[in-house]
Amino acid sequence: MKIFCIGRNYSEHAKELGNAVPENPVVFSKPDTALLKNGEDFYLPSFSNDVHHEIELVIRINKVGKNIQEKFARNYFSEVGIGVDFTARDLQAQLKTKGLPWELAKGFDGSAPIGEFLPIADLDLSNINFGLKKNGAWVQQGNTKDMIFSFDKIISFISQYFTLKVGDLIYTGTPAGVGPVAIGDKLEGFMEEKSMLNFEVK
Ligand code: ZN
Repeated sequence: MKIFCIGRNYSEHAKELGNAVPENPVVFSKPDTALLKNGEDFYLPSFSNDVHHEIELVIRINKVGKNIQEKFARNYFSEVGIGVDFTARDLQAQLKTKGLPWELAKGFDGSAPIGEFLPIADLDLSNINFGLKKNGAWVQQGNTKDMIFSFDKIISFISQYFTLKVGDLIYTGTPAGVGPVAIGDKLEGFMEEKSMLNFEVK
């Protein structure tokens, strides 16, 4: 399976990192070894002193597709869940300065915790509240109405380049409020009022 992520999909977050709002989705990927399931602990990697949380809604693809038109994108996923796109911000800054790919800063082991999913039949996709609590306090809160690129647009765009297969995941971008995590932090991801992801930083 493949894991895609969208960068800079909420303008307030693009601004907080000093990035321009993109014309097309910024796409990168993580290997399957990045996944962290069932509330497993996240171990801070030794190569970074500034690992940031990015809470994101995640689409799970349920049908093979290539060159999917935006108007048919809804036929290719039936669930939306929540995950964290951990980012070694210090390493990413170094790589960006040199014009190098982000893989090392974004795709390392455990950098993609994934929680529960909800059926899209139960959701208004253009108005989903989601967020992240760190040690019981809100650090990130977003709503899909503020996405620059919708789920349908993202699926259509990615599928022009990559065949989407059943089980592929797409992390759809983070709202403002990203920040560092430390050993002992407890992270909890929410969709609406529902706690859907819960794990500890070690
Ligand atoms: Zn992200």
